[in-house]
Amino acid sequence: MTQERCPECGAPVSGGFDGCQEAWEQVGALAYSHPECSAARDLALDTYCMQHPARYCRSAKSYAAHLTRLCCGLVYDGSPGVYAAIQQWLDGVVAIRKPDVPNNRGSMTIVDICAAGNPVEYVGLVRAWAENVWEAYADQHDLAYWWIMLAQKQANPRQRK
Ligand SMILES: [Zn+2]
Repeated sequence: MTQERCPECGAPVSGGFDGCQEAWEQVGALAYSHPECSAARDLALDTYCMQHPARYCRSAKSYAAHLTRLCCGLVYDGSPGVYAAIQQWLDGVVAIRKPDVPNNRGSMTIVDICAAGNPVEYVGLVRAWAENVWEAYADQHDLAYWWIMLAQKQANPRQRK
């Protein structure tokens, strides 16, 4: 029997994309029952979405939201101010273009996160997964920084710092 894979992220799951979604929901349920997982939960969501862009990043706005939030979670240490600026920026009218999606979107998948046996392991695995996917988007790091700069500029137009 050949192992089925999710067509979007390549996770070895039976049921393809549906199986992948199921794994995602299971892991999410575990994370929701532990408050210490809350920051990693946001990071996990953006990582999962960037690995499944056909479903979660159809519009330029949703693409920008998940790419910049993934960047914020890793590079800006999950700064609440940056998350808020991104949200505010994308609530308005933004003239942005969605870049081409890379074919390789990381070697880790939700299946790796399923191995977490406790909250500490969950947080560590999500971080490794997010970094793995962020690296796969290396060509778009500059774009993510640029978008975050635009978001911050718009959120704090009079900031003198
Ligand atoms: Zn998948």
